[in-house]
Amino acid sequence: MTRLETMKARFLAEPTIISQLPITLPNGCEVSEINGSCAECGNALTDEQLHGNVSRPMSNVVSFDAHGVCASCITIFPLHGRVRAIGDEMRMEWIKNGQWVGANLESETILSKLILWLKRQLRTLVN
Ligand SMILES: [Zn+2]
Repeated sequence: MTRLETMKARFLAEPTIISQLPITLPNGCEVSEINGSCAECGNALTDEQLHGNVSRPMSNVVSFDAHGVCASCITIFPLHGRVRAIGDEMRMEWIKNGQWVGANLESETILSKLILWLKRQLRTLVN
């Protein structure tokens, strides 16, 4: 299969991301929603347009490996990253130019809910 066929097959076979949430991290922070948007046109993906796998490689890490479909551009693209609980905070990490980069997410309270925004990562298409 070509890379495009593989992405399409995975999208069709895998459940929506929202169906696998929420997930509560050991520090009480809850990952309640993962949203995606298309960097080409800015279109926000609906829950039905974001499919993939959510996993817990470690108890304090939520990892997601998904594909989004942009209804405006009629394209499919990978979206992936992870959230790590560090103390009372969360750190969002994603791949940029082949390397993991990250940013701390502000949480007003330990029990705050987290909505993640993922942007289309064009670089991941160029392997
Ligand atoms: Zn688009």
